Amino acid sequence: MTLLKGKRALILGVANDHSIAWAIAQAMHREGAELAFTYVGPSIERRVRPLAESLGSSLILSCDVTSDEEIGAAAEQLRAAWPTVDVVVHAVAFAQREDLKGRFVDTSRMGFRTALEVSAYSLVAVTRALDASLSAGASIITLTYLGAEKVLPNYNVMGVAKAALEASVRYLAADLGERGIRVNAISAGPVRTLSSAGITGFKDMLHHHAERAPLRRSISAAEVGDAAVFLASDLASAVTGEVIHVDAGYSIVGV
Ligand code: NAP
Repeated sequence: MTLLKGKRALILGVANDHSIAWAIAQAMHREGAELAFTYVGPSIERRVRPLAESLGSSLILSCDVTSDEEIGAAAEQLRAAWPTVDVVVHAVAFAQREDLKGRFVDTSRMGFRTALEVSAYSLVAVTRALDASLSAGASIITLTYLGAEKVLPNYNVMGVAKAALEASVRYLAADLGERGIRVNAISAGPVRTLSSAGITGFKDMLHHHAERAPLRRSISAAEVGDAAVFLASDLASAVTGEVIHVDAGYSIVGV
């Protein structure tokens, strides 16, 4: 399949082969995209490098999104290798484990700052660093969760960070739209990954989701990958500033 033939995609957020970013990378590779990856620290590099190479990618860049220097250096390396970037996948989030349980009101100043910086501000910082490299018609895609819209047990400060991320999607879409650059978010249903394992009660959330969603099941990371292909492709050329739910319909249900 060739929906993304000729497009170059930078993927941030592969930690291992369970990562949503990995499913997105596989789907984009299947559709003919050329891929580059980022990682944080040597232990993740050891996991990301063989995965990236299995999809024919040798552009594997260090990028801790809490550092403007690292983001700048990664953007510089990318510019040296690729004349332009057509797709950016931002699948990065972090909150301290103690802030993903108990009462939201107990979130510390530092915990709030960390969650918002890594999970929301990073989209702004990465977009700015890549701004000059983005092709006309480029597509930026981030990952969000229902906790941005509704209160979900234990999601707490990450819900607030995702709300900031979704608002950032709209502001970035407005800024970049005149160059034909689109910015969207996928609100994915729960998927078992390294990050989701850090949310207290995640297993219960997964079961509840499968019972209550209109499609009566949970979703797979591969389904998120397919939605990301759509957003990255020219099929979505008039879609920007949106949050698309890939959640088996869970978010439409009241009681
Ligand atoms: P994951 O495999 O653990 O991916 C999270 C990624 O964020 C990891 O690669 C992690 O790298 C990266 N990250 C954390 N801090 C970073 C930093 N300072 N700089 C750069 N990267 C950093 O988990 P995932 O579930 O696939 O998460 C991907 C995205 O999907 C997240 O935005 C998450 O909120 C969202 N999402 C997940 C679900 C779900 O149920 N899993 C549902 C909806 C949305 P390190 O491992 O090196 O820290």
